[in-house]
Amino acid sequence: MVQTISLLGSTGSIGRQTLDVCREQGIRVAALTARNSIGLLEEQAREFRPRLVAVSELEPALELAKRLAGLDVEVAYGLEGLRRVASLPESEAVVTAVVGMAALWPTMAAIEAGKRVAFANKETLVCAGELVMEAARRYGAEIIPVDSEHSAIFQCLQGSRDRGEIKRLILTCSGGPFFGLRREEISKKTKADALRHPNWSMGEKITIDCATLMNKGLEFIEAMRLFRVTPEQVEVVIHRQSIIHSMVEFRDGAVLAQMGTPDMRLPIRYALTCPDRKQSALPPLDLLQCPPLTFAPPDLEAFPCLRMAMDCARTGGASCAVLNGANEAAVELFRRERISLGQIPELVAEALDKIPNVSRPAMEDILEADRQARECVTKAVQ
Ligand code: NAD
Ligand code: MG
Repeated sequence: MVQTISLLGSTGSIGRQTLDVCREQGIRVAALTARNSIGLLEEQAREFRPRLVAVSELEPALELAKRLAGLDVEVAYGLEGLRRVASLPESEAVVTAVVGMAALWPTMAAIEAGKRVAFANKETLVCAGELVMEAARRYGAEIIPVDSEHSAIFQCLQGSRDRGEIKRLILTCSGGPFFGLRREEISKKTKADALRHPNWSMGEKITIDCATLMNKGLEFIEAMRLFRVTPEQVEVVIHRQSIIHSMVEFRDGAVLAQMGTPDMRLPIRYALTCPDRKQSALPPLDLLQCPPLTFAPPDLEAFPCLRMAMDCARTGGASCAVLNGANEAAVELFRRERISLGQIPELVAEALDKIPNVSRPAMEDILEADRQARECVTKAVQ
C-alpha cells in the first residue's frame, strides 16, 4: 500500500472520491491540482496540508496563494506546476483524475519519475496508450487502472503471470440512459437527459460519453492498451445492473468476474493499496436482494460512437487520437448547448473521414492528430 500520493484533478468526481479513500486509509496527500475551482481547492488544502498545490492559470494561482498565506503550502501554476506535482519526490503514487488530453504531460512526468500511476484518465491511454505503456516499461512505473472495468480486469488477472493465458476480456456496459432507444430518438435528447446516468454519478464529460456509449468505445481501446490484447480479444456486453464490473476469459475456459456494489472508491482504493485489500465501509453486495443479472449485445446502429471507436481500435495509428480529440471538442460544444446530441457522432465521423491516418505515430503525430480533430469540429460548427 502507498503512504503518500499526488492527486491531479482533486476537485472532480474521481478527485474527491480519492480524497475520501485517503481519509479512510490515512494516506498522506502531498500535492493537489485543479483547473480553477479555487474555493474547493482551498478547503482541500486546509484539510490535507499538502506541500504543493497547482492550478492551470496564473490569476487563480495568485488568488489561492493569498488565501493560503500562513499555511506551509506552495502554490504553482501552469503545465510546469502540474509536472512538479506529478514528479514530487515524496509521492509514491500519482492519481490522474484530470479529464481529457490535458492529463498527457503530467502523466508522462509521473511515469518518467517512476511513480505508481493510478490511471483514472482514459483519454491519454486512448490517444497515446502505446507510447505511455512503453514509457512505463522503460522507467519501471507501475500502471494501475482506476476505471472500474479495467480495475475489474486487473483484479481478475492477479496471479496470472502469462498474458498468453488471456483469451478474451469482457467489458460490461450499463447501456447508459438511452438504452433500448433508436438513433433518431437518442439524437434529440437534451443535455439534462444525457446527464441522468442510471448507476453512476460522475463528471459531465464522461456522463455524456456514457449516454452516446463513446465511453465504452474509449474503454475498448483503453483495455487493448493496458492489457496488450487485440481488438478481437475484447467484447462489449450490456449489463444493466452494473454489478459485474468486467470479466476475463482464460484459455482453459475459466471466466473470472469482479463484482460489487457500484462505487468508484473501490477501484481507487485498490489502485492505492494493491496487492493488499483494505477495510472499507462499502455496503456488502447482497445477491439475494439484487435484480437478476442480464447480458445483451450492444446496439451499434443506435450508438455509432461505439462502432467508430471499435473501428479505430482495429485501424490503429493516430485514428484513436482523432476519434478522441473530435469527441472532446464535440462534447464540449454539447455541454455549452451549441450542438445537439446527434451531432456528436456526426462530427466525430467527419473528422475521421477528413483527417488522413498516420500509422505508427510518434508523440508529435498524436498531438497533431488531436489538434486537427478539434479544429475540424470547430470549423464544421462555425
Ligand atoms: P471531473 O470533470 O469531475 O473532474 C476533472 C478534474 O480535472 C477537475 O479537478 C478539474 O479541475 C481538472 N481539470 C479539468 N480540465 C483540466 C485541464 N485542462 N488542466 C488541468 N486540470 C483540469 O471528471 P471526472 O468524472 O472525475 O473524470 C476524470 C477522469 O477519470 C476522466 O478521464 C474520466 O474519463 C475518468 N473516469 C471517471 C470516472 C468517474 O466515475 N467519474 C470513472 C472512470 C473513469
Ligand atoms: Mg468505466
